[in-house]
Amino acid sequence: MAAPLNQVIFPVSFQELFAAWNRFPDAVLYAGGTNLIGKQSKNIISLPPVFICLDKIEELQRITRTEQYLEIGAMVNLNRLTGLGKIVPEILCACLENIAGPQVRNIATIGGNICSVSRLLDLPAILTALDAQYEFRGASNATRWVSAPRFHSKDHTILNEHELLTRIKLPLLQWDYAVYKKFYCEGYFNNETLAFLVKTQKNILSEIRVVYKGDSILRNKDAEDILNGKSLPLSRKTAAEFVGNWVYFLAEMNEVPELSVNSIINSIEENLYNLSE
Ligand SMILES: Cc1cc2nc3c(=O)[nH]c(=O)nc-3n(C[C@H](O)[C@H](O)[C@H](O)COP(=O)(O)OP(=O)(O)OC[C@H]3O[C@@H](n4cnc5c(N)ncnc54)[C@H](O)[C@@H]3O)c2cc1C
Repeated sequence: MAAPLNQVIFPVSFQELFAAWNRFPDAVLYAGGTNLIGKQSKNIISLPPVFICLDKIEELQRITRTEQYLEIGAMVNLNRLTGLGKIVPEILCACLENIAGPQVRNIATIGGNICSVSRLLDLPAILTALDAQYEFRGASNATRWVSAPRFHSKDHTILNEHELLTRIKLPLLQWDYAVYKKFYCEGYFNNETLAFLVKTQKNILSEIRVVYKGDSILRNKDAEDILNGKSLPLSRKTAAEFVGNWVYFLAEMNEVPELSVNSIINSIEENLYNLSE
């Protein structure tokens, strides 16, 4: 159906949303609009004739907590999430507080940050490090769960046509050492980030996750295996083996600029220093 220009539809249910998408197959989902409108004002995209605004679907605004998980509706804005306080993992708060300024964070949604297809933004990497799961809903109203690491591959996501992200399920694990580092680069959206998470049991390092985000999200599980189960403080030899493995991993990847490799390795060394003898 030919649509009049600049129409915005406000469905109040998923049924209404998919009916609208059926009528206007080229309609684009609109969450906070900060990415869509930003790109349009820079002439990166032209506005589509029809937007489907997700604002009025109550289920997408919901936040629930169980003993093991925090479930966050895709339309929850970034400030609302940090406002939940201690229940939100510290490293996720650090990531959220480093995205844009408070005004943008009042509008930008978690779903919009994850689903921005033109560029990989900051939240997907931290949600990968925290082992989050995403719930998607498709045209037949069927839902599917996808783990955060599976959702983003280099240059694309596995979001199907006429599918939306509805919920993010976040395991509430206790991390004993958690550091988030954002390396500032030219332009708002070209950030590189590093998440460094460690869990300990007595004096043993029981789990480590190190996740880097540049143009794609990188995690080096071989290196993590070097440290899993090691006594703390780490010996210098073990720490050096971990760093060496990351140097080799990044060289093999051949996609990270040399300057960034140096920043990542320095940051990893700094964190290991805090855990070493
Ligand atoms: C000044 C400024 C500075 C910024 N700095 C940073 C930064 O440092 N780090 C960072 O990570 N980001 C940064 N951003 C980007 C910002 O975080 C994103 O614009 C925002 O998270 C997108 O959320 P939104 O709700 O506005 O999405 P929208 O702009 O509404 O949508 C973004 C895209 O996602 C799609 N979409 C939205 N919701 C869903 C859904 N539920 N299911 C499927 N598809 C969906 C839309 O169709 C669109 O393609 C900055 C933005 C601005 C304006």
